[in-house]
Amino acid sequence: MLSKMGTPRLDTCIPLPIEQEELETLVSKAKDWALMHGAGMRPMDAYDPDGMRFAPFVLLPSTFPKSEFDRAVQLQIVINELFHKVAHNHEFLVESLKSTLEVDPFTAKLFSLYETIRREGTAQALSLGLFRSDYFPHSSESNILKQVEMNTIASSLAQIATSTSLLHRYVLSELGYQDKLKHLPENNALQGLCNGMLQAWEIYGQPKAVILFVVEPVTYNICDQRFHEFEVRRLNPLVTVIRRTLTQLAEQAKLERDKRLIVENYEVAVVYYRSGYTPDDYPSEIEWDARLLIEKSLAIKCPTIQYHLAGTKKVQQALALPGALEKFLPDARKAGHVQKIFTGLYSLDMDEFGDKAVKMALSEPDRFVLKPQREGGGNNVYGKDIIDVLGKIQNSKERSAYILMDRIVPPLQLNYMLRPGRGKAMYEPVDVVSELGIYGVVIGDEKTIIENKQVGHMLRTKLASANEGGVAAGWGALDSPYLF
Ligand code: ADP
Ligand code: MG
Ligand code: MG
Repeated sequence: MLSKMGTPRLDTCIPLPIEQEELETLVSKAKDWALMHGAGMRPMDAYDPDGMRFAPFVLLPSTFPKSEFDRAVQLQIVINELFHKVAHNHEFLVESLKSTLEVDPFTAKLFSLYETIRREGTAQALSLGLFRSDYFPHSSESNILKQVEMNTIASSLAQIATSTSLLHRYVLSELGYQDKLKHLPENNALQGLCNGMLQAWEIYGQPKAVILFVVEPVTYNICDQRFHEFEVRRLNPLVTVIRRTLTQLAEQAKLERDKRLIVENYEVAVVYYRSGYTPDDYPSEIEWDARLLIEKSLAIKCPTIQYHLAGTKKVQQALALPGALEKFLPDARKAGHVQKIFTGLYSLDMDEFGDKAVKMALSEPDRFVLKPQREGGGNNVYGKDIIDVLGKIQNSKERSAYILMDRIVPPLQLNYMLRPGRGKAMYEPVDVVSELGIYGVVIGDEKTIIENKQVGHMLRTKLASANEGGVAAGWGALDSPYLF
């Protein structure tokens, strides 16, 4: 089916609209269900450490092509292997990032940390990866999945996604569609990621050692983080989680002679970063010192600095260049499967290819997304803004701070988007699009991968009219896939 604007449209999982009275009752139940099952966030507009609102969600599971979902699930272990190998290939990281390092001080700072570690060494050869690979179905190519990006640091929402999968079972049952529950895939993302952390903890092998979550000074997405903490305790009652900011760690963390990481009186087995990926997380030099200290330690890091760098947009773009994948995936079939999920990715370096990409972007800005090396949503440039941003730097090497990417156009569908404090405004179905994330766990060192698993999924849905759909950032809504 085609929508008004010509974008293909998917059928909804049940006929819409839902009759008004039934809808009102259902919405109030669903909101309470979400709040009472840990799909909450602290309000951004009026932070309250004692309060919680439900995290934005869509009332119904969005339909998603089953064959594409299955493909992404199966591909995850190849993606894990690929990014693990990329992270351990010094030459490739240097080559991919060198132009960006000249003009992007944040990435340059991460890279200098990486070089320090290469020079001075680290006591821990293993890395822990809790990854999430994100995709949109591309509507003009029969909804084949295209990778939006790869996250190697602070891959979030595993808890809320797990909870939303169950919420949608409840909603469809309330509506009397028990026969449709079989279309909702099981989701154990939270447990999968926490098992990864616990596996690393066991490898570390010190029963009293803790898992350290490195967090922001104020955490809005607290449910998601705390449930990781609670799940760790549930899965292994012996394991304690502590939370510290980089600023606190600058004061409290130290290394023993044998490089054990000590925070106050705790020995740390595993470091799990839920911050440290934006410049704001490093208000001064002491936070960088803390990151370096951790990096040198015997603790198992999620991620290590090389994993962090492997997750940059620039590396993703470099991997899409002809011949790049084959370096890491000698099995041509595997490389072929990954190549298929790449959409057009273009370097903006100061060479003929960069010049061509600039021209393309300026003449048809709506076909592209301009991306800096940043994480956490809200950093990309779209449409006419590309002309403003890229126009100014088109002849300067500043442009190497960005990559250019084909804009993926996902199929539309209708859903009810529920946000706190919106009252009845949410009783009208709206056009939305959905982004799928697949979680992976990997543990290994330069030579060997000792664990490689796919552990669950996330579906995040935004208004079709919005450029981005970050949930913590306030534009997106949690969802779960209804496979057809
Ligand atoms: P971040 O690391 O900040 O999450 P992303 O690359 O995931 O960066 O971009 C943020 C959001 O922008 C995505 O969730 C998606 O909604 C949108 N987006 C990114 N790349 C594309 C693309 N190529 N086509 C369409 N939308 C995109
Ligand atoms: Mg990201
Ligand atoms: Mg993203």
